[in-house]
Amino acid sequence: MTHGPGISGLILEEPLLWEKGKQGRSAFSMPEQDVPEAFSEIDENLLESGIDFPDLSEVDVVRHYTRLSGWNFGVDTGMYPLGSCTMKYNPKINEKMAATPGIAMAHPLLADELSQGTLQVMFELQTFLANLTGMDAVSLQPAAGAQGEMAGMLLFAAYFRKKGEKRTKILIPDTAHGTNPASAALCGFKPVLLESSPDGTLDVQTVADLMDEETVGIMLTNPNTLGLFEESIREITAIIHAKGGLVYGDGANMNAVMGIVDFKRCGVDVMHLNLHKTFSTPHGGGGPGAGPICVVEKLQPFLPKPWVIKTGSSYHLEYDCPDSIGRLHAFFGNFSVLVKAYSYILSMGAKNLKKASQLAVLNANYVRESLRDVLHLAYEKPCMHECVFSDKIQNEYKITTLDMAKRLIDHGYHPPTIYFPLVVPGAIMIEPTETENKDDLDQFIAVFKDVIREGREDGERLRQAPTITKIRRLDETLAARRPCLVG
Ligand SMILES: *Cc1c(COP(=O)(O)O)cnc(C)c1O
Repeated sequence: MTHGPGISGLILEEPLLWEKGKQGRSAFSMPEQDVPEAFSEIDENLLESGIDFPDLSEVDVVRHYTRLSGWNFGVDTGMYPLGSCTMKYNPKINEKMAATPGIAMAHPLLADELSQGTLQVMFELQTFLANLTGMDAVSLQPAAGAQGEMAGMLLFAAYFRKKGEKRTKILIPDTAHGTNPASAALCGFKPVLLESSPDGTLDVQTVADLMDEETVGIMLTNPNTLGLFEESIREITAIIHAKGGLVYGDGANMNAVMGIVDFKRCGVDVMHLNLHKTFSTPHGGGGPGAGPICVVEKLQPFLPKPWVIKTGSSYHLEYDCPDSIGRLHAFFGNFSVLVKAYSYILSMGAKNLKKASQLAVLNANYVRESLRDVLHLAYEKPCMHECVFSDKIQNEYKITTLDMAKRLIDHGYHPPTIYFPLVVPGAIMIEPTETENKDDLDQFIAVFKDVIREGREDGERLRQAPTITKIRRLDETLAARRPCLVG
């Protein structure tokens, strides 16, 4: 058995503080009081209200939270091969920059003259993102990819309203992230399903057959959520434009193509970027993030306001934007995330950003080639930043994707993304990212192969997995239907 990074041992059980507390314990000791009690009434009120705080000593509390912090798994702990999420290592220098007092303490209500530094960061970040994508103008306001999509859909709506056209539908591929149809529907567009061809990419003819003058356009993701490059993108966008439509590009997979693909030349009119995926903000716990949108010139007038404008050598916020879709966010979005992206881009430089993307693609193809003998490859084409397998081979001896994913946990690996995208039954989607070195990839591959071998020789072991974790396999249906929220 190859050793993964996980071993059992000093992983400590930890009860709830309520179970741990014992009446009379205290985190401090004070001298006997020599003045009358002033707060006794309040104490009684508290007791009557039924709030039952546990009595704990200082060491109880410190150990409790320290142990819990050790249960956390993050990219700073180990490889996090979750496809579609770009869980790459985020250099600490970017955190440090965002925490610089002048930035972290800047008040959003300060006048423009007193905010020149922060406005400059925003203005320059917009320029960098425009350069990286090939687009003309940028708004940093959206706070997440999904909000970027919604902003894009509001831009679509504003554009057609201004033109006096009423269009109601939008084409969305079956491989799209679920947020795509949700964002479109929120803005009143009816999603029309575009079926991908068997090779996992969009078929030009299918798009041509469905595109008409009642359709605002298309939302596509490139590279798509199967990790494949939509090679016909220029033909597809030409079809949409010929019918007066617009093209939304979901840029969540930018990590594969930084400084490599010119999206404007591909025919994209609006795209969002997930700064928290590609540009150095740790994510996974629900935020904060940033999903700036990059647009072509004709959509610039509709961008959320205020705009950051540079006149001569000074910066100001422009509120007089008559065609703007308005504000999407209080103040300017999640500013610290913007600073981290700015710092990341400057510290990497154009050449290294491109190299990072090339390495991300190389690593994904390395994993793909290394596991293809033991796992069924969903698509034959070389991949971009992630590769998709399925459990087709293992199904023959009654092992599923879930069993393999759970057994990886026993060996100290966070599982890859499973059962997504939905177009691949039993999908296993692996995105190693550029920040894993070859030794770490080799260890992961060797462990994955061992897990598969174990499954063939002793299926029950996999079906029981994980077995050395504190919590064993959960009944996921029960957990979803009848969640236990005691605590
Ligand atoms: C992550 C992701 C999104 C959504 O981004 P959030 O920042 O989580 O809202 C949209 N599309 C794709 C392809 C993604 O991977």
